[in-house]
Amino acid sequence: MGDRPESNGTEDADAGSERAERTHEGADDENPDEHPYGEDWPDLRDRVWRRDGHACRRCGADDRTIQAHHIVPRSAGGPDVPENLLTLCRPCHGVVHPTNDSFDDVRDEASLFPDKDAPEPVALMKSPEDRVCDRCGRERDDPTELLAWRDPPTGSADRPTDHLILCKPCAGLVLDRNPDSHREDLEGNHRFSVGEVSAMVDEASVRPSVWAPEPVAVRREPRTRRERVVDDTPLRFVLNSRAATWAVLLVVGYLLLMVGVSAL
Ligand SMILES: [Zn+2]
Ligand SMILES: [Zn+2]
Repeated sequence: MGDRPESNGTEDADAGSERAERTHEGADDENPDEHPYGEDWPDLRDRVWRRDGHACRRCGADDRTIQAHHIVPRSAGGPDVPENLLTLCRPCHGVVHPTNDSFDDVRDEASLFPDKDAPEPVALMKSPEDRVCDRCGRERDDPTELLAWRDPPTGSADRPTDHLILCKPCAGLVLDRNPDSHREDLEGNHRFSVGEVSAMVDEASVRPSVWAPEPVAVRREPRTRRERVVDDTPLRFVLNSRAATWAVLLVVGYLLLMVGVSAL
């Protein structure tokens, strides 16, 4: 173990822990006096690193600076026990703390997908935007439900990107309709096949979201009457949105009330 990467021995960096992160003092994030790290912290942290094979539990990298991440943050009462700690490389630690700017310099180096065996608390896509399908606009918490289209022909200066995120049903549709998309350009964190995603096409939304970039803004042929009448028309904006539905119900209720009152 003499060739350990530079494990800088930093404690967890929960929101606002810039000072602790930068100075590596082992002090707690918000109020060092309230939650001081115990004397046994270095031993505990080393034990966690050993348990995790000195490799990042999100991406599997074993050649990066590693840190001990608190699953339940110390600031929220998370204890310093092995069960509450996971080894993460610094970039992945930044993924898990998306608003902590002390990771801004490395977050970009994190992998887009978590390893398929990453434990749930750290099995996150690289950024919050990467959890949303670029075609249908739906968010998926489970990274295994998402695929990335690498180097898509976006052809738009407004949204330069090296990848687009697609849920599997939308990926099946895009593969089906877009001559520029190929199975080899699709990436996931697990094995998947064209047949698998193609079989899910019917689950894709009929219309792409209004924000869908051009190469994935393809329509699916509606199959049922509801899809033809609602999902394929502007009615979808009203009936497929809970807020809009409530607004309509509220207005109708109000009008009925007015009619009732004036009839008295
Ligand atoms: Zn990592
Ligand atoms: Zn989708």
